[in-house]
Amino acid sequence: MNAQVINCRAAVLWSPGTPLTIENITVDPPQEGEVRVRMVSAGLCASDGHLVWGWDTDLILDLEGNPIVMGHEGAGVVESVGPGVTSVAPGDHVIPMWMPECEKCDLCSHPKTNLCLSGDIVSAMYHKNKETRMKINGKPLLSKAGTGTFSEYSVIRETHVAKINPSADLKTVCIIGCAVGGGYGSAVNIARVHPGAKCAVWGLGAVGLSALLGCKQSGAHTIIGIDINADKESVAKEFGCNEFIIPKTLDEPIESYLQKMGGIDYAFDCIGNQQVLDSAYKSLTPWGVLTVLGLGPRGNGVNAKVADLVMGRTVTGGLFGNQKPRKTNQEMVDKYLSGSLPIDGLITHRIRLDEINEGFDNLKAGKTVRTVIEF
Ligand SMILES: [Zn+2]
Ligand SMILES: [Zn+2]
Repeated sequence: MNAQVINCRAAVLWSPGTPLTIENITVDPPQEGEVRVRMVSAGLCASDGHLVWGWDTDLILDLEGNPIVMGHEGAGVVESVGPGVTSVAPGDHVIPMWMPECEKCDLCSHPKTNLCLSGDIVSAMYHKNKETRMKINGKPLLSKAGTGTFSEYSVIRETHVAKINPSADLKTVCIIGCAVGGGYGSAVNIARVHPGAKCAVWGLGAVGLSALLGCKQSGAHTIIGIDINADKESVAKEFGCNEFIIPKTLDEPIESYLQKMGGIDYAFDCIGNQQVLDSAYKSLTPWGVLTVLGLGPRGNGVNAKVADLVMGRTVTGGLFGNQKPRKTNQEMVDKYLSGSLPIDGLITHRIRLDEINEGFDNLKAGKTVRTVIEF
């Protein structure tokens, strides 16, 4: 066990709605049940952006005035482990998991959910007894989702790491930990797209493109990608979309257009704004399934009519594709290595840690698919 405090750099958010600052921080040794990870890469996800941009979503965190190391998508190497850690050892390659999986609680053994009773997204910002392992000038630094991947080193609970095949490129597989796992899983595990189906995906960032890939690999016949940015068309086609639509270029509401095609069997909302939720719901066939992935402004919802529900429509959703996170990360890395999960095209930008604010600006402007920090 390595008992040294590590000094390193991290991107810190001092308060929601302000730019991140690159700070010199300290990272304490891991304690019981904890793992210290040297981060190799980290992806920029919109749910970090919501906090950086100060958006009020249903999952906004109350930081209680504390600064926080952001980032919940990453990949790295275990540097040291605390007492009692058995699933990983120094040198192992890992993907941090923003959802815990203790493998001991009633929910971890429940086949219908991937939630875990060992912690939630708020308690994950701290370690035991509200301590933090990361500090700045001795002041506690919270850790986003318990993973804090925008740091050269992070202390993460063993329940929040998945050991992966060491031959996978750590600079690429980081995106499996949120975007790919969540988007692809929503198609194959939540919606369970059937062969020959008609699918439509709103919002073609890394999550939406991963959902397209899941639809394609499930054997969907018609896969429609919907975005406001014309630049997304080529990458959408690469990921399986056979029709690309920019709604404002139609001379009718998109739901009317899609209903004239006979309706959509599986709609995916990867945006969360109210107009998209309404359009996606109204585009469904009577037996259609709307899967909600996007985190929009607080209070948004789906206006599901009883008359539609009794006819057979379904509205659903889930975190990380409602898949057990450890096994899913491991299996998706293996699929990537075998060539059956072609995700390289999702990474459109690679940056240094100190370019992170520009990365979030470009994400907000819809100019990027996934931007990955290389440490
Ligand atoms: Zn994410
Ligand atoms: Zn559990």
